[in-house]
Amino acid sequence: MRTVHVSLGNRSYDIKIAPGLIGRLGGECARLKLAPRCAIITDTNVGKRYAKTVFNSLATAGFTPSLIIVQPGETAKSLKTVQACYDQLAAHRLERKSFIVALGGGVVGDLAGFLAATYLRGIAFVQAPTTLLAQVDSSVGGKVGVNLKAGKNLVGAFYQPKLVLCDLDALKTLPDREFRAGLAEVIKYGIIYDAKLFARLERDLPKILNRDQSILAPVISRCCEIKAEVVGQDETDGGLRAILNFGHTIGHAIENISGYGKFLHGEAISIGQVAAAKLSHEILGMPERDVERIGNLFQRTGLPVRTRMNFLKRQRLLNAMRLDKKVSDGEIKFVLAERIGKVAWNQRVPATVIHGALDEIAS
Ligand code: ADP
Ligand code: ZN
Repeated sequence: MRTVHVSLGNRSYDIKIAPGLIGRLGGECARLKLAPRCAIITDTNVGKRYAKTVFNSLATAGFTPSLIIVQPGETAKSLKTVQACYDQLAAHRLERKSFIVALGGGVVGDLAGFLAATYLRGIAFVQAPTTLLAQVDSSVGGKVGVNLKAGKNLVGAFYQPKLVLCDLDALKTLPDREFRAGLAEVIKYGIIYDAKLFARLERDLPKILNRDQSILAPVISRCCEIKAEVVGQDETDGGLRAILNFGHTIGHAIENISGYGKFLHGEAISIGQVAAAKLSHEILGMPERDVERIGNLFQRTGLPVRTRMNFLKRQRLLNAMRLDKKVSDGEIKFVLAERIGKVAWNQRVPATVIHGALDEIAS
């Protein structure tokens, strides 16, 4: 088993990475000295595969779990679902020392984390992320929340879990498209922080796509380590944490203007990172060779690197970029890379250069 420690003072916690962790979840929770009553929050897809295992594991360890099942997909991250879940938490009489187990992908993690952060002014929560994206990204760093009609993640909190259990076996049932989309964040860590990780991904990609656990274990734990390091230095989004947004300014804009469900988050940021590499070449002199390597790796991963773009769509994309949460004083600032493994944030980019990068990803 690999363990990554997230160092945040008295809110520190461990991320454990291994096969079979879902079946050992009860025993792992028993070490945390929490009250017997707890709630497992999951969605129908994950629930039908793993809820029973988690439930039995908790019961065997002496807990009294209840099960709350929500619909799969982004729509579950709503205040309406939050309300329904609060009612169930109350009906199950969860108390201050009770805890919530988030069993699922990023959607379940964000929702369950938000419930834990707010129910009774905060109860403990344990994450069992079951998508690659959630294991390497959303389960690390403590951002929890739900969407409003006006936009994604507009209501939320910074709230750290007590423990994160990344079960490598859970990834076996993840649909291929979701798995590849998760790899877009994995590749991102290589670009922003770790050239050796990037080279390893280039070398071992076929094994990774086969979900070979002997490679997935070190790769996932390295990603968690990088995110933990970044978040440890900047828990609440003031500076360094911005580097995690490499490829996301354009990526989020692509998500926003494309119809719901057209691109998964990982697919949109794949295109966004290819554009950001081009910008990086223009603004920071990223070597051509690195720009090529980035484009090739996303392509070999089976991720999109282009999107259709007529004049109207280009305008909508630029508008969406200006509306991004990360924009301050109306000016778009980009995270760019000098080379693979080294980034700089707060980079201004002239409009003509942005257009050049959009040409690159237009098909
Ligand atoms: P993400 O982690 O990418 O933000 P979601 O929480 O929306 O995404 O999960 C993506 C989809 O995959 C959902 O439909 C979810 O029910 C499903 N899912 C999550 N984990 C697994 C798994 N281990 N096996 C099969 N399906 C899963
Ligand atoms: Zn992302």
